[in-house]
Amino acid sequence: MKVAIILAVLVAAVLCEDHLSGHQEERSQDLSLVKFGPLCSGNPTNRKRGCDRHGCGAYGAKRTHGTHKGLDIVCGDGAVVYAPFDVTLNGMAAPYRRPSAAQKLINNGVNLSGGGLCFKLFYLKPDKYSGSLKKGQRIGVLGPMQRVYPGITSHTHVQMCDRSNPTKYF
Ligand code: ZN
Repeated sequence: MKVAIILAVLVAAVLCEDHLSGHQEERSQDLSLVKFGPLCSGNPTNRKRGCDRHGCGAYGAKRTHGTHKGLDIVCGDGAVVYAPFDVTLNGMAAPYRRPSAAQKLINNGVNLSGGGLCFKLFYLKPDKYSGSLKKGQRIGVLGPMQRVYPGITSHTHVQMCDRSNPTKYF
């Protein structure tokens, strides 16, 4: 009888421990969330675009048709865009399907995978569209955004391949 009671207590203690360690795992997963390294020269902290006369840079911000499906990181025209992780380049990613003459100037970008994530960067002219880069190496140069949207906070647009919200990775 005594043995049974001791066993019951032990089982309860083990179950309890499992429960606790489960919670701890969740927490350490949040803490170890992968974070984008600096994307753009002149913006070492990945400062986000706020709002300007052309709109806001946050994910989910209102657009003429629907909502903003990415997050805009401040980047000046002609600034160098860097690999935020060790990345593989997976081809061109163009932001506009039917660009205006002006929009053609910045209708460029690249599909990337790295840090366990699949994402796109828009408005830059990559040096190449395939192969790989180490974190911090140059991907290319930001396009002439001011010529297309005068007064905008020039930026690169970060969009996850599944169109989910990338903000937690910044
Ligand atoms: Zn954007």
